[in-house]
Amino acid sequence: MSHFQPKSMLVTGGAGFIGSNFIRHVLQHEPDISIINLDKLTYAGSLDNLHNLPNADRHHFVQGDICDASLVQTLLAQYNIDTIVHFAAESHVDRSIHSPQSFIETNVLGTFTLLEAARQHWLVQNKRSQNECRFHHISTDEVYGSLQPEDPAFTETTSYQPRSPYSASKAGSDHLVYAYHHTYGLPITLSNCSNNYGPYQHSEKFIPTVIRACLACETIPVYGKGNNIRDWLYVDDHCSAVMAILKNSEVGETYNIGGNNEWENLALVHYICDLIDEQAPQSKPCSSLISFVTDRPGHDFRYAINDAKLRDTLNWQPSECLKSGLKKTIQYHLHEPSIKL
Ligand code: NAD
Repeated sequence: MSHFQPKSMLVTGGAGFIGSNFIRHVLQHEPDISIINLDKLTYAGSLDNLHNLPNADRHHFVQGDICDASLVQTLLAQYNIDTIVHFAAESHVDRSIHSPQSFIETNVLGTFTLLEAARQHWLVQNKRSQNECRFHHISTDEVYGSLQPEDPAFTETTSYQPRSPYSASKAGSDHLVYAYHHTYGLPITLSNCSNNYGPYQHSEKFIPTVIRACLACETIPVYGKGNNIRDWLYVDDHCSAVMAILKNSEVGETYNIGGNNEWENLALVHYICDLIDEQAPQSKPCSSLISFVTDRPGHDFRYAINDAKLRDTLNWQPSECLKSGLKKTIQYHLHEPSIKL
């Protein structure tokens, strides 16, 4: 196992769901790291996600676009950045079906802009060695395509078969990251994670939609028959996995991150309903609010992650099971109802 200690970190998309949780995690657990947070504040990002940060003096927010090459170059030089953790993306599959252009701009061109700025700053201008800098790219299991019930889970060598404009744009960005490593020697690592849930997730996503509907006694919309299957991971466990990769992985490696929590959507909705009936009973059982709606076009049937490489080589394991993670998420929605639209 090699060792890398980030000091001055550029986090992109740090006002979004996972990025803001990652910043909280780093400020809490990593006393030697300062963070520059570059976020455009699209509809998905909010400064509300950054309220009450621990050790906030080590966090500096910059509103800007990752496609703005001169801004990115200035930040790398001004703050002597040695580590980039790249979360910024257009991330909602439904939006990518209706308006794909911004997905290509941010996810593909934005990632290219960051890679090229990192190459120029680290390798061309400052001649840094591979042990002195790191580019970690955050990706998704959706690049691997869709599984049938009996198929084995995705491994790091599963071939890419993206099926939505979102997953295709993330696949394109992953290929660019590998290309910059193989062609120029940029010291990269990469992770492909399953579905996250937890505090600060935007209300348009599945689990916040279910919790908020239950708490407002409104209809819970479930796509199709509700039999699509996803693998769920509590967001802070994603954050700890990224830190384990950054600090201990060899350069050029990729890791799948998952929760070993495969659930059919409908079963998960019933489970959340039961937890809310226990934790915050409403006037009627929450499951009576379930309503089936027209399925998403091209809806991938199943994702499942084999994360043995991460567990075996970097000794990572998640801290939360689905029940404890969902309880924390429900508590968040009960106590911070005004946040996130
Ligand atoms: P999110 O939509 O909640 O946040 C994205 C953030 O990026 C927002 O703050 C937004 O303002 C910012 N942003 C968008 N375009 C930008 C641009 N051009 N320049 C600068 N900032 C910009 O997304 P998320 O759910 O936190 O996902 C973060 C990353 O993790 C994404 O790369 C996504 O593909 C990946 N991922 C997400 C999940 C999941 O379940 N949410 C699972 C696996 C991987």
